[in-house]
Amino acid sequence: MNLPALSFEFFPPQTPEGAAKLVNVRGQLAALQPEFFSVTFGAGGSTQERTLDTVLQIKAEGYAAAPHLSCVGSTRDNIRKLLHTYREAGIGRIVALRGDLPSGMASIGEFHYANELVAFIRAETGDHFHIEVAAYPEFHPQARSAQDDLKNFKRKIDAGANSAITQYFYNPDAYFRFVDASTRLGVSAPIVPGVMPIVRFSQLARFSDACGAEIPRWMRRTLEGYGDDVESVQAFGLDIVVQLCEKLIAGGAPGLHVYTLNQAAAPLEILKRIGYQ
Ligand code: FAD
Repeated sequence: MNLPALSFEFFPPQTPEGAAKLVNVRGQLAALQPEFFSVTFGAGGSTQERTLDTVLQIKAEGYAAAPHLSCVGSTRDNIRKLLHTYREAGIGRIVALRGDLPSGMASIGEFHYANELVAFIRAETGDHFHIEVAAYPEFHPQARSAQDDLKNFKRKIDAGANSAITQYFYNPDAYFRFVDASTRLGVSAPIVPGVMPIVRFSQLARFSDACGAEIPRWMRRTLEGYGDDVESVQAFGLDIVVQLCEKLIAGGAPGLHVYTLNQAAAPLEILKRIGYQ
């Protein structure tokens, strides 16, 4: 089996201990020679400094780093400054998002949707950045319809995005159908599946409820049934995610983007089982 390129996602650590731990996690994952490490950006810019610091640290360690950049609640001026900081620091890839307005934050700011951010990045910095955008094989929770969401996805590609990373999912058919439907709309940019390892059920259920990623009933019931038996949850999760990745690769997925939650153990185990060395 031909193994596609990997990328790994981190969130910016909150403490010096978290940052030190992440250096170690990165060192372990770097052995798999990923194309890049990405770093999330807190809604409304809440982690702006920490995202920047983490990205610069990754770059200083000699790896390719891609900051996420969400535009909701922000201004053109602020985004422009960040783009120039990243460009000057030698960063060549950005994950461009709308983000979600944090509760209590009143103003949506100067951007409404991610396609506007993509167009702004292109207008400000030309072809400097490789721009990734988000895609939703099970559709974004706020989308008016599946068809509408697909058209909105295409807007981001038409605005100048180079490739996409998906929300995680456990039903490979949703991904393959999304890719086919996008191709029929004229999208030829690679759509890389986002992969979420299953480590703790309560945490996964919370994320999934918030972002609209479905945990199929048979999986949910099985995971619930394990209760506090963490070993069984992890063994089951490992099987599920390994099989999912194998199906995605066999079906032609152009890469795998792993949501690490700043842990190396689960991603390493999954990827080694698939054959990554
Ligand atoms: P958009 O593409 O703008 O879509 C949002 C909604 O609006 C969709 O329902 C869409 O159908 C609709 N829409 C889009 N364009 C238009 C338009 N022109 N007119 C009308 N309707 C439109 N969040 C963070 O806060 N920080 C992160 O670092 C982060 N990283 C992520 C990484 C990945 C790979 C993914 C998949 C998601 C990430 N998110 C992150 C979550 C993301 O910010 C949320 O899902 C957010 O709700 C939508 O962002 P988006 O860029 O997909 O928005």
